[in-house]
Amino acid sequence: MKITNQIVIEKAKELGFDLIGFAKAELLEHESEKLNEWLERKFHSTMEYMQRHTDKRKDVKKILPEAKSVISLAVNYNTNHNHDNKNGHGKISRYAWGRDYHLILWDKLEILEEMLEQIDPQFKSISYVDTGPVMDKAWAVRAGIGWLGKHTNVITKELGSWVFLATIITNYDFEYSKPIEDFCGTCTACIDVCPTKAIVDEYVVDANRCISFLTIENKGEIPEKFKNDFDNWLFGCDVCQDVCPWNKKFSVITGIKEFEPHEKEIGLDNVLAMEPEEFKKKFETSPIKRAKLKGLMRNAQFLKSNSEQI
Ligand code: SF4
Ligand code: SF4
Repeated sequence: MKITNQIVIEKAKELGFDLIGFAKAELLEHESEKLNEWLERKFHSTMEYMQRHTDKRKDVKKILPEAKSVISLAVNYNTNHNHDNKNGHGKISRYAWGRDYHLILWDKLEILEEMLEQIDPQFKSISYVDTGPVMDKAWAVRAGIGWLGKHTNVITKELGSWVFLATIITNYDFEYSKPIEDFCGTCTACIDVCPTKAIVDEYVVDANRCISFLTIENKGEIPEKFKNDFDNWLFGCDVCQDVCPWNKKFSVITGIKEFEPHEKEIGLDNVLAMEPEEFKKKFETSPIKRAKLKGLMRNAQFLKSNSEQI
């Protein structure tokens, strides 16, 4: 039986995906140029992996030679909670409050791809969640899921930007979705509010200045020049998304219970006293494990040394 857009949408929605779009598997020419400019300006900082596989990022046929379409999927992770801003605690970014989204989305993708293969054994696919040489945001934009906000997160009209993206590259033909227009307009709220001035141009984030990078992927020290700018962010940063009018007006609460918070904030002294075994146990299925205990301790130490913490 032939797999149609409608079949994919129905099956994906059954599994908890909120938005599904379809794009033709063409070269990402313009998006690759932008990526190269960003790399040339060294805005990727120490994320050397961003320099690798640029051919695959541009051309999904280098990943799946018979690729015809890319299916982009989004899952809402917004829960009905806020930070408590407890004294002596460091804040965790919303995306890392609950179970690791990779684990949740990988499971859903596996089931979805199996379902589609059962409908038509000719269906062939390779899927990614955030890892791998795929420009997931670019595909989400091409597939009409949303537009790229000036803070460089994808914003959807239905859910705001609190969404995780998944990407399926497939050998199958579909009807293609229309990209939607950019609704940022004259707004510059995210740029104005960024505590470290990391949004250096509209749609350009310098990772060297971004709290999200500096507290998660960064392996070195946090530069002293940002002392007092971190507003108690211990892991990631939500400031540019928190102020976005699209999140203020349109975000809705997710139905996925696994995104409910385990940790929204952690006591800085608790982090500094944490043993490796405790860290491993506590964060085994959390995105926080990515920073490793060493990184989390560095962040806690940095926040403690900020003047407002003394
Ligand atoms: S995540 Fe935080 S530091 Fe990074 S661009 Fe957004 S507001 Fe700025
Ligand atoms: S805060 Fe304004 S400029 Fe920034 S992403 Fe949202 S709408 Fe766009």
